[in-house]
Amino acid sequence: MLSATGPLLTVDAGERTTRETVIDDVLEATVGGRATATALAHERIPFDADPFGPENRVYLSTGPLQQSQMSFTGRMNMTGLSPLTDGLVSTNAGGYLSRNFVATGYSVLEVTGESDELLAIHVTDTGVEFEDVPELEGATVPETSDYMSDHHDLGPEHCIAIGPAGENLVRFASVMTFDSRAFGRGGLGAVLGSKNVKCVTFDGDVAPPLEIPNPPEMEIHREAAQSDDRMRRQGTTGGTEFINDNFSLPTRYFEGYEFEDVAAIGGDAVEEKKYTKGACSACAYACKLPTRDEATGVETEGPEFETVYAFGSLQGVGDIVDVMRANELCDTLGMDTISAGVTVAAYLASEGEFGNAALAQDLVEKIATRDGVGEQLAEGVARCHDELGVEDYTVKGVEFAAHDGRVLHGQGLSYAVANRGADHMYASLLSLEYSGQLDPQGTLGKAETLVAEENHNAFRDTGIVCAFGDDYVTDERLETLFDADYAALMEVGARTVQLERHFNNQRGFDRDDDELPYEIPDLEDSITEYYDARGWSEDGLVPESALESLAPATDESRE
Ligand code: SF4
Repeated sequence: MLSATGPLLTVDAGERTTRETVIDDVLEATVGGRATATALAHERIPFDADPFGPENRVYLSTGPLQQSQMSFTGRMNMTGLSPLTDGLVSTNAGGYLSRNFVATGYSVLEVTGESDELLAIHVTDTGVEFEDVPELEGATVPETSDYMSDHHDLGPEHCIAIGPAGENLVRFASVMTFDSRAFGRGGLGAVLGSKNVKCVTFDGDVAPPLEIPNPPEMEIHREAAQSDDRMRRQGTTGGTEFINDNFSLPTRYFEGYEFEDVAAIGGDAVEEKKYTKGACSACAYACKLPTRDEATGVETEGPEFETVYAFGSLQGVGDIVDVMRANELCDTLGMDTISAGVTVAAYLASEGEFGNAALAQDLVEKIATRDGVGEQLAEGVARCHDELGVEDYTVKGVEFAAHDGRVLHGQGLSYAVANRGADHMYASLLSLEYSGQLDPQGTLGKAETLVAEENHNAFRDTGIVCAFGDDYVTDERLETLFDADYAALMEVGARTVQLERHFNNQRGFDRDDDELPYEIPDLEDSITEYYDARGWSEDGLVPESALESLAPATDESRE
């Protein structure tokens, strides 16, 4: 089976030491990306770690396909113990980082410890340098990129960085790359902030060569370049009206399912503001959305659909320029747009201020700096909803993505059991339910499909293939590219989900955490079906007997 190559690089931000570990056997068993990072995290992050303690670790990992020039592979994985869920999360970002990362020769970067001073870490193919950057305290993500460009001649495609939100330990702070691409969900930006790591740069010239079969590599590239999908023009916003028509676009902090001003914030409205094409490295599909409003000068990349929901319909805001402003603020300050938007919507609900876009933008800035009410909101909805007097629309502390589980019941089940909480990318039953391949009504009998979707997405984040490439990087092509049959690939995905779950079990997660803030049919019985399909106990626990076959030997004693 194809797998990523190169050693693990461990950087201790407190001790300012580095260590290289050959992990070829781990990579052979786990391929790369999310699976490799999850295996390492499972073994190396203490089960009782404080998410903000020096013992927590952040993993940035590549898959093997990032060593190729295939479309849909301009992405990287990040994994760590989340301050939002208190469990293990993996998150995935595009941009141009992946090729610069593999050019350093490493397969995984592990950051541990805690620096006394605000720190930049420079990873190259000849070594690692540490740089105190006190002048970057409070700097935005673009200001940090500019500094790295001015002082090190490295553009934002070479960097991961946090903004003020990460420094201030906002529980949904993101790690940004290329200024506008977010490792968004789960607050790993705050984990880097707790380590006083402002920025990591990657620069090198030793990418190991990778031969992948052609076809299908060139076929995928050609089909991506020739596609006339609406998504190529409008990105994820292309489905906004369709989702609204299917009563799955949560509105006014979940009061409703459809938004009367959807046309003003949907795909056509976004496309009207798009001024050029945008892509990730090597991707001919180029679905990104650089947008500009000539009248106001507001410029951003995006908004993507989930931001249109979180800062549009969910807040009762029907102006795409307001959504663009909020999107740019979140990117600049370093925050997940979904969690930030839902948290702001919760505040607007508590104050009766739906539609007040100026207040929403002011709140985003206050959250990033923990100023005034921002101190409360920076903790996220699960921790502040009581004080606000609103319902807790989260699962495992993660604010809901759109695609309403009250209408798409299989997606609701997915939100309930997902290790990452209420996130739509963990298992996308929504696609099957929108298309009618699955009846959106009911949850019983959907567990096997849910398991298959979770495994598929876990492997996709391992390979690493973009979620928007499923129609091009088909299951058959995955088999050819990875030189393995589909069942073997899915086994890697399944082990990843099991390890995440086992880690979370050790931190006290069980059936009581697999719950929704609303009722859908037969949820408890369908959760039992899901546990049975996974081989877990009635309480949602991974049996210890399953562990030996799950976790490859990655212990630090080999060093
Ligand atoms: S499909 Fe879009 S998001 Fe995915 S790699 Fe290509 S440009 Fe990036």
